[in-house]
Parts: sequence; structure tokens; C-alpha cells
Amino acid sequence: MLQQKSFTFNPFAENTYILYDGQGQAAIIDPGCCNRQEEAKLHDFITEKNLKPVRLLLTHGHLDHILGNDFVFRKYGLAPYMNSGDLHLLHSLVATCEIYGLHGVAPSPEPAGWLNEGDTVTFGEIKLEVIFAPGHSPGSLCFYSAEDKKLWCGDVLFNQSIGRTDLPGGDSGTLFRSIRSGLFTLPDDVTVYSGHGMPTTIGFEKENNPFVGALAGN
Ligand SMILES: [Zn+2]
Repeated sequence: MLQQKSFTFNPFAENTYILYDGQGQAAIIDPGCCNRQEEAKLHDFITEKNLKPVRLLLTHGHLDHILGNDFVFRKYGLAPYMNSGDLHLLHSLVATCEIYGLHGVAPSPEPAGWLNEGDTVTFGEIKLEVIFAPGHSPGSLCFYSAEDKKLWCGDVLFNQSIGRTDLPGGDSGTLFRSIRSGLFTLPDDVTVYSGHGMPTTIGFEKENNPFVGALAGN
């Protein structure tokens, strides 16, 4: 059975997730921990639950989602799996952090491999389907557990909002299409865990998301 824990890390209030099965096999999604205290929170939970992290998964390459990549690599020996469309963001992490006033950030390890639409990520008893959902960034991915009806969608869709598209590589038409064809086709009772803010469901967003008109019309 899939269990999970979420943390809210770094000045951007980014959600980091740990998914794990009954045997303690775990995946870390988007490690945003950016200082010793946040790293300790992540590691303490892993130790307390006796988890074995075996996968590092990235929904996308924006800095707030990858600040902890170096820590996860050093601590657990895991390099990230991601879509190649965001590799340039991974490579520009340190320079982008300087622009935002975050100094002393370590570069990310190179990816361990690529993930694309239709791929499956398995660890322990858990199986996640990969949904390619560009628009917020060129290489945005969502991870879907059909069995548990849960979706981890990074910054593609939020509780009553959608990802911003004004950052380099963002495109609103592409994002609308990604949400319409990749997310709003999932069952209404799928719970959505976003990169920021509170969880929601596909059904609630189809009814209440203020962008739903634009999403239908593109
Ligand atoms: Zn983002």
C-alpha cells in the first residue's frame, strides 16, 4: 500500500514528497530542502520510518524543486530521473539561485535517466505512470498511481489555479492542452498533490478552477 509524507521547504514554500510502500521502499519527489534544518527533517523522517530511498524523481527542473538534489545524492546515492526538456534548468541551478539571492547552493548531480510520456516508474510495490505535461516548463512531468488514485503534478495544476507560464520556456496554450488532455481525462476522484499549496481533486478542479474556461477553449 502506498503511503506518503509531504514537507514544505525553502523560501518558495515548495512541497517535497516521500512515497513509500509497506516494505519501506521509497521515492523522493522534488527535494526542495535548502538548509541543514530542512535536510534533517527529511532525513529524520526517513530514519524514523526505516525507509530505503531508491528513486529520486523530478516533476520539473525549477530551482525550488531541485535545491535538495545534491543532498539526496550525497546521502542516499540517488541521481534524478526527469524529462530531458528541463535539463538546461538543472544545469543553470547555481546561476539562477544567485539571481534569487540564494548563495552557496551546490550543483545538482547529472540525471540518472530520462522519463517520458507513458513510462512506468516502479519501486517496491508501487507503480507510477509518467504523464508528460509541458507548458509550465518544457519538461514538466506528472506521476500517477492509478491504483491509489493519486497524482503528483508539480507546478502543472494547483488547487484553484494553474502553473505560471511567464518563466523562460513556459507557454500557456501548451499548459492548457497538457491539463485538458493529460490531467482532466483522469477520474474525478483522483487526489492531486501539487508542488505548492494544498491538495485538491481532478473533479473539484474541473468544477472550480478559474482557468477552466480557458482550459476548455484551447
Ligand atoms: Zn515550477
